[in-house]
Amino acid sequence: MNSTLLENGLDFILLATKFLKESEENIDEEEKSRNIKYSLINLLSGVELVMKARLYAENWAYIFADIDKARKSLLSCGEFNTVDCSRCIDRLENLCEVKISDADKKAFDNLRKKRNCVEHYIPMDSCADLSSTINQALTATVHFLDSTFSVFSSPDIIDLSDDEFRTLSEKEKNLYSDITVAISSLNEHYNIAKSIATKRACEQGSCLEEDLVLCPNCNERTLVINDEDNSCHCYLCNYKSNGEDAAKDYLYSVYNINEYETVKYGGDYPLYNCPECGENSFIQVDNNYMCFSCRQNYCKNEIGFCEECGRPYIILEGKDIKMCPDCYDYIMEKIEKA
Ligand SMILES: [Zn+2]
Ligand SMILES: [Zn+2]
Ligand SMILES: [Zn+2]
Repeated sequence: MNSTLLENGLDFILLATKFLKESEENIDEEEKSRNIKYSLINLLSGVELVMKARLYAENWAYIFADIDKARKSLLSCGEFNTVDCSRCIDRLENLCEVKISDADKKAFDNLRKKRNCVEHYIPMDSCADLSSTINQALTATVHFLDSTFSVFSSPDIIDLSDDEFRTLSEKEKNLYSDITVAISSLNEHYNIAKSIATKRACEQGSCLEEDLVLCPNCNERTLVINDEDNSCHCYLCNYKSNGEDAAKDYLYSVYNINEYETVKYGGDYPLYNCPECGENSFIQVDNNYMCFSCRQNYCKNEIGFCEECGRPYIILEGKDIKMCPDCYDYIMEKIEKA
């Protein structure tokens, strides 16, 4: 029950952003107004479902219209009335300590009024008016999704006595990030998508904002290196790549350095083996050197380049022997044998 609620809710919201995007691109007025209508209906259904999922996460009984008539046995067959939208918001605030700003409440309310027009065949406003209603409600929805994400995913509210409780499924996590990507492509929502992506990158990638790196695909500082699955992952555009390829993409997009061209004209391609993990994904990032595989980060003056083999090494406590450990060992061995 819980999983269907949240998953379906997120799915509808994703669909709503796609229809809104289509309406932005469509020049045919009739098509445009259809896209807007579908966007509106899906957005409202979606956000209502996510709100119910949030109530459910607090207490399954809260989604019953009449809490006195709540029975766990009814949940599985679905034969009961669920709480309506305005009371849903009241319960979120009063019972779950969710804060929804007055502006956001008004945006949801306007969305509901417009949906009623659609459903009762009342002539609708012009498309521009409708899309501004949807845009405001979408902003409110993003605020709400942002506040729910940590509640759904954070293990600190897990009640071990409740065997139904679980954290976000892979599918739901993907839906959250697909929604961020989708809204970032909408005219009015790029900035909010960017700030949500930054926040989520820090949370999920367990890093600080200053550890985030410029994404070679979308050029925003929303790339997590060595994310959960050891890949580099951008939380804004969903770019994913292994450390070596991401480092190459970075060199190309930030410094305009192309491996093929560089090597062809006899230059040195500035991609190195990491002195920490050995992967071929160590490059200069701003004034530092950074490994795109293990996330190890060094100031420029902490790294030297071996005079024997050219590979980078860590300068130990300011004592620079101008050599990497391998070359140093090799030379010492030769001296000992001699
Ligand atoms: Zn990106
Ligand atoms: Zn490394
Ligand atoms: Zn060396």
